[in-house]
Amino acid sequence: MEHVISSKNPPRITFQNLSRVAGLFHGVFTRRGGVSAPPYESLNVAANNGDSIEAVGENLARVKETAGVEWLVSSNQVHGDGLNFIDAKAAKKLEVRAPMLISPPGDALSTNMTDLGLLIKIADCQSILLVDPDSRVIANIHSGWRGSVLDIAGKTVRSLKRLGLNPAKTLAAVSPSLGPCCAEFINYKREIPEKFWPFRVGPLHFDFWALTRSQLTAAGLREENIEIAAKCTVCGKADFFSYRGEGETGRMASIIGWKRP
Ligand SMILES: [Zn+2]
Repeated sequence: MEHVISSKNPPRITFQNLSRVAGLFHGVFTRRGGVSAPPYESLNVAANNGDSIEAVGENLARVKETAGVEWLVSSNQVHGDGLNFIDAKAAKKLEVRAPMLISPPGDALSTNMTDLGLLIKIADCQSILLVDPDSRVIANIHSGWRGSVLDIAGKTVRSLKRLGLNPAKTLAAVSPSLGPCCAEFINYKREIPEKFWPFRVGPLHFDFWALTRSQLTAAGLREENIEIAAKCTVCGKADFFSYRGEGETGRMASIIGWKRP
């Protein structure tokens, strides 16, 4: 993982494995480099949490410009396990809200089309980026603890096999997110099913990074193809928005997309 800072574009986190794929744009933008005022300072990309619509629009324009794609595709994230696959037919049905196309509610976005930046909004939740360089199927998954319990990562990989994705060739990256240092679940016996308790790393703490790794390998990904940022958003509030750490705050943009040749 490397931290890319550019004077012109907002900074973002990139991953070594995905950086090796020709024609692919990816990155998890930090909270820096945007125009939103506190408590959304500054690169907030969510328009439904109280921030100014104009500021969010400017932030999205900067993200899109940096990504170099024609459109950003986003959906209302509902902490479920639903997948929206965007092919040419589905793309025609998306709601246009420039610079975004809005897909039906769901927490996983996937496509094999060029010029669509799949956007997941996060503040502690994981964005899990997937690419199969051969079939060109890419995905961006929103997975908080509810998504982890639902195994949205594994379900998405299995669904995408029908659309040509080969898990053994697929590269994955996991964004900065809630780390084992801060993932305290006081009511875990009620909230988290017992089969996930082996991922407990303290009396009340869980390692959701390890859990995602295990769900991806169970779905057929190779251990060496999974890269985890291993940066905790709660601990890193200077760089990241954190819902647990701050309450009312912004959402960061995580993007993957094929650029035009
Ligand atoms: Zn932490």
